[in-house]
Amino acid sequence: MLVLIGDITSILFSKILPYRIPLYQNVSIRDLKFMAMKNSQVSLLPSIIKAKCPRCREGNMFTTGNLYSRQFSDMYPNCPCCGQTFEPEPGFYYGAMYVSFGLSTGIFLAVILALNFLVEEITLPMVLISVIIIVLGLLPIMFRLSRAIWINIFIHYEGPCSDIPRK
Ligand SMILES: [Zn+2]
Repeated sequence: MLVLIGDITSILFSKILPYRIPLYQNVSIRDLKFMAMKNSQVSLLPSIIKAKCPRCREGNMFTTGNLYSRQFSDMYPNCPCCGQTFEPEPGFYYGAMYVSFGLSTGIFLAVILALNFLVEEITLPMVLISVIIIVLGLLPIMFRLSRAIWINIFIHYEGPCSDIPRK
């Protein structure tokens, strides 16, 4: 439909106006189809933040959307959409601890840097409170984020769920 409207408007405008409008000028139908396909794909970063399946970026990895519930760590064994397993081997997520450690360190350094600008002197209680907030307060977020990043290193995107074979 978009293609049709684009073509009709460019034809109309080229008849009405002495110059031709650049919109859709050099874009073929194949290009438009490619652009539409690109639009239906989910980017890596949003898929990691939302903890989506690395293969199709559509199915959820975790059973509950609520981060601060008891079930925050409960995962589906397979992607509900494409069937990709979320635990390729036993103990797969031990490696996610390194990711979590890296993320926590990064946030901690950013907090200390921010504190450095905000207060005259950084005291031990400030550092301790920052660590407690980052480690405990952000625990569910870090847990999910590190697992999502970790699995995305090993399993790559294959396309929208409807276009790839179910595993
Ligand atoms: Zn999937």
